[in-house]
Amino acid sequence: MITDPTTFTYFRGRVALYALLRGLGIREGDEVAISAYTCVAVPEGVLATGARPVFFDLEPGSLTMDPAQCESMLTSKVRAIIVQHTFGIPARMSCFLELAQRTGLTLIEDCCHTFSSTYAGREVGRFGDAAFYSFEWGKPVVAGLGGSLVCWNPDLEHQIRASYPEFEDPSRLRDLRLRGQYWAFSFLYRPSLFWRIRDLKNWLGRAKLVEGNYSGSYSGPASEDFRLRMAPSCRARLHRRLRSLDAVTEHSRWVSRQYRSGICSRAVQHLDVPAGAEVVYARYPLRTEHKEPLLALARAARVEIANWYATPVHPLERSQWESVGYRAGSCPNAERRAREIITLPTHPRVTHRDITRTIHFLNEVVL
Ligand SMILES: *Cc1c(COP(=O)(O)O)cnc(C)c1O
Repeated sequence: MITDPTTFTYFRGRVALYALLRGLGIREGDEVAISAYTCVAVPEGVLATGARPVFFDLEPGSLTMDPAQCESMLTSKVRAIIVQHTFGIPARMSCFLELAQRTGLTLIEDCCHTFSSTYAGREVGRFGDAAFYSFEWGKPVVAGLGGSLVCWNPDLEHQIRASYPEFEDPSRLRDLRLRGQYWAFSFLYRPSLFWRIRDLKNWLGRAKLVEGNYSGSYSGPASEDFRLRMAPSCRARLHRRLRSLDAVTEHSRWVSRQYRSGICSRAVQHLDVPAGAEVVYARYPLRTEHKEPLLALARAARVEIANWYATPVHPLERSQWESVGYRAGSCPNAERRAREIITLPTHPRVTHRDITRTIHFLNEVVL
């Protein structure tokens, strides 16, 4: 078993996913079931193996994959199911576990949004054969850029250990660049500057001056990144950050409790938490019927409200969905969620004052 998420670290979360899928022998001709309402990192990790991602829809009223629909849509080509705990909300793991046991399919948990949420009293990441993590901005543990995994399946563990020597450290120059990028953003960032920094980051990303999630036009997985380990500077930071994981978790709980009790607005609605789940939110989601005007007002008021996920394969626009195998209209619940959901920050930089401002903004906003 690989229980320590710092043992095998990769350049990004999607590379950790790629390592897991390759360890399962997944390749061209295979299919991997993934959730719509995801980030492009997930289909990229699948595509990098040569396999095809197949998108499954969300459970009505929820932000996680529908186990019933998943079962009805499985084909003989599907080799693994990736279940995503979106924003930290656990998927209904008892159903997925039972499905995996009955069908013999491998179950991988996408824990990029949470380390600490529990379902039926058990921490997420411990249900399936393996789980993977990401440590970039916006995730619960921020180390710059990077990903890792845990693994509970002995055969898969063997393959992960055997393949790790094939992954190399990024160049020193790249490490240096990531180090500079981390310091610049951590120096600048605070919730009230969210919108300005977001604009700056998008601009720098398009100019290829920073390594972002996305650089404006999508041209498929960057293959060289899939051979890389986590940059040494990010790895060192990860070790330090994980020591304060309990404090990060407590802070997220404290922030989201205040959002839940304080936000009472006609503009937004809270979401239900699945029965048996205790959620540690990466971001606190709200539903709204007025997403665009609300975001514009939040920008003007300098309140951090994110448009994640804006599409079923964030941040790809409709014209780019086909490039990762998503067919428009195939997952209506995910598409509806993408039009409705906004998220609030819960990370350690959120202060009492930020929370008060955000709650006040949402409670008073007129649309
Ligand atoms: C961030 C994220 C990943 C991995 O992202 P990387 O940029 O590859 O580290 C995977 N799945 C989800 C749901 C994510 O939000």
